[in-house]
Amino acid sequence: MTKKDYDAIVIGAGFSGLAVLHHLREIGLDTIAIDGADGIGGTWWINRYPGVRTDSEFSYYSFSFSKEVREEWVWTERYPSGQEVLNYLNFVADRLDLRKDIQLGKWVEKAVYDETANRWTLSIKGGETLTAKYLISGMGVLSQPIWPSIPGRETFQGAMVHAARWPEGLDLTGKRVGLIGLGASGIQITPTIAPECGELFVFQRTPNFIVETNNDPVTPEQLQHVREHYDEIFERAANHPFGVDMVPAQHSALEVGPEERDRIFESKWNEGGFHFANECFNDLATNHESSELASEFIRKKIREIVKDPATAELLSPRGYSFNGKRVPTGFKYYDTFNRENVHLIDTKTTPITEFTEKGIRVGDTEYELDVIIAATGFDAMTGTLTNFDIVGRDGVILRDKWSTGIRSNLGISMNGFPNLLLSLGPQTPYSNLPVPIQLGAQWMARAIAFAEKNGVPALEATVESEEWWAAETDRAGKATVMYTEGQKAKAWFFGENVPGKPREFQVYMGGGQVYQQYCRDAEADQYRSFRAAEQHQLAESA
Ligand code: NAP
Repeated sequence: MTKKDYDAIVIGAGFSGLAVLHHLREIGLDTIAIDGADGIGGTWWINRYPGVRTDSEFSYYSFSFSKEVREEWVWTERYPSGQEVLNYLNFVADRLDLRKDIQLGKWVEKAVYDETANRWTLSIKGGETLTAKYLISGMGVLSQPIWPSIPGRETFQGAMVHAARWPEGLDLTGKRVGLIGLGASGIQITPTIAPECGELFVFQRTPNFIVETNNDPVTPEQLQHVREHYDEIFERAANHPFGVDMVPAQHSALEVGPEERDRIFESKWNEGGFHFANECFNDLATNHESSELASEFIRKKIREIVKDPATAELLSPRGYSFNGKRVPTGFKYYDTFNRENVHLIDTKTTPITEFTEKGIRVGDTEYELDVIIAATGFDAMTGTLTNFDIVGRDGVILRDKWSTGIRSNLGISMNGFPNLLLSLGPQTPYSNLPVPIQLGAQWMARAIAFAEKNGVPALEATVESEEWWAAETDRAGKATVMYTEGQKAKAWFFGENVPGKPREFQVYMGGGQVYQQYCRDAEADQYRSFRAAEQHQLAESA
C-alpha cells in the first residue's frame, strides 16, 4: 500500500522545498516534498523565458549548508542562467539524496486542518489524499502569473504567451513580436530576443530604473575563492539588509559634494548590477532626495547609451525615484533600443486599448504581430496561498483571513492555522532569496524540534504577534521611497498590480538582518509568540 501519512509535508520543490526537506529530515521527521510540476526547481523550473537568469551573483545565490554541494558544484557565470540554477538545484537534490522523498506531479487542490487529530489533510488532484502533522509552504513568492486586464485576449490569432509559462520550442525568428511588461522578466527578455525577432514592439507603461551589468564567466580562481570563503560570504549576506554579499555603504548621498557623488555613482555603476543600488550610499532607498540624485545619474546614463533622444526620454522614469519599484538588473537592456528592429511604444499616455485578431491596438494604431509576450508579473507573495482553499481551525480559509490585510507572525505562521508554516511567506524580507530561505528552513527545524521535545501541540501565531508584525511591516515599508505620497510607482510590493488586492506592504522592508534578529528573539523566547495553540486548548478546556 502506498504511504499516505507523514510527520511533515512541504509543498514545493524549489529552493524552499529542498532546504526545508533537508533540515526537517535532519531532525528526524518523516518528511516529503510534493510539487505540481514534473521537475525539481520551483521558480526555475517554471520560468523558462529567453534570457532568464539570476540578478544576484552566483557566490551568494546558493545554499551554504552543505559542504559537499559547495565544493563540488561548478558555477560558470557571474549571474547564472535559469538553466544553470535548475541544474544546481537538481545537483542539490541528488547530492543530499533528497529525490527519494520528493513526489512530483502532485497538485494540491485543498488543505484542511483537523483539530481533533491535529493534522493536515491534503487533497491532491486526481483523488489522492495525504496527511501530515506539519504542513510547510515552499510554494514561492512569485509563482502565480497574472495576465494584463486588457480586453480581447481570446481574439488574437497568433501565439500569446506569458513569460512565466514559456512554451518549449517557440520560435521567434523573423517574427513580429509584441512584448508587454517591463519588470525584471521583460527586461531580461528584451535584449535576448531582439536579435532573433523580425520586429520587436516593446509596449511600455512605466519605465524602470535599471542597473546595467556585464555577465562574465567565472574563473577557476574565483570559484576557488568562493569555495574557501563560503561561510563568510553567507554571513555577510545574512547581515546585509538585502541579503547580498556587499558591504553596506556608510554615508548619505547628501553628505558629499556633487563631484565626489558622481565619482562614487560612476564607479559602482561600472561594477554593475546591485553594487550600484547597495554600495554607493546608505539612503538611496529611504531618502527621497538621495534617491532622486541616483535617479538623475541613471537618466543621464540612459541618455548616453540610447542614441535617439525621444526614446531615451521615454525610457527615463519620471514621477517616482530610484528604488521606488523593485530595481531590475539589465544585461545590455538600454543598448537594445539602438537596434533598428526594436520599437518602444508608450502605453502610459495612451493605454493599450485591446488585443485584436491581428495584434495589439493602442488608441487608433493597430500593431500587427505574430507573437505576443505578456511579462506582466505575478500575484506576488500571497497568490500561491490564496488560489486554493487552505482551511484552518473552525473552517476559516486563509484567503478569507487575508481578504482585508495580511496577518502573520514574521511571515511564518498564522493564527487559526496550527502547524502551517511558510517558507518565504508574505511579510518576509525583500532580499536575495536563498539567504532567508536557508535561514528560515533552519529556524523552522529548530522550532519544530523544540515543539516536539516540549510537548507543544502546535506552532501557531498569537493574535498579538500578528498585529505587532503587521504594524512593523507597515512602519518599515512607509520608511522607504516606495511609499512617498504622490511620488509612488505602482508596484507588486504594495499589491497594486492585482485588482482588488488590499494595498499594503507584501514584503518586509526593514532589512533582512533586522528580520533575522526578530526570528532569533522569538527563538530565545521559546517561541512564545508562536504558541497560540496552547492558549486555545487552555481556553477550550476551561
Ligand atoms: P512585474 O515586475 O510585476 O512587471 C510587470 C510589468 O507588466 C510592469 O512593467 C507592468 O507595468 C506591466 N503591465 C502589467 N499590465 C499592463 C498593461 N495592461 N499594460 C502595460 N503594461 C502592463 O513582473 P516581472 O517582471 O515578472 O517581475 C516580478 C518580480 O519577479 C520581480 O520584481 C522580481 O522580484 C522577480 N523576478 C526576478 C528575476 C531575477 O531575479 N532574475 C527575474 C524576473 C522576475 P506597470 O509597472 O506600469 O504596472
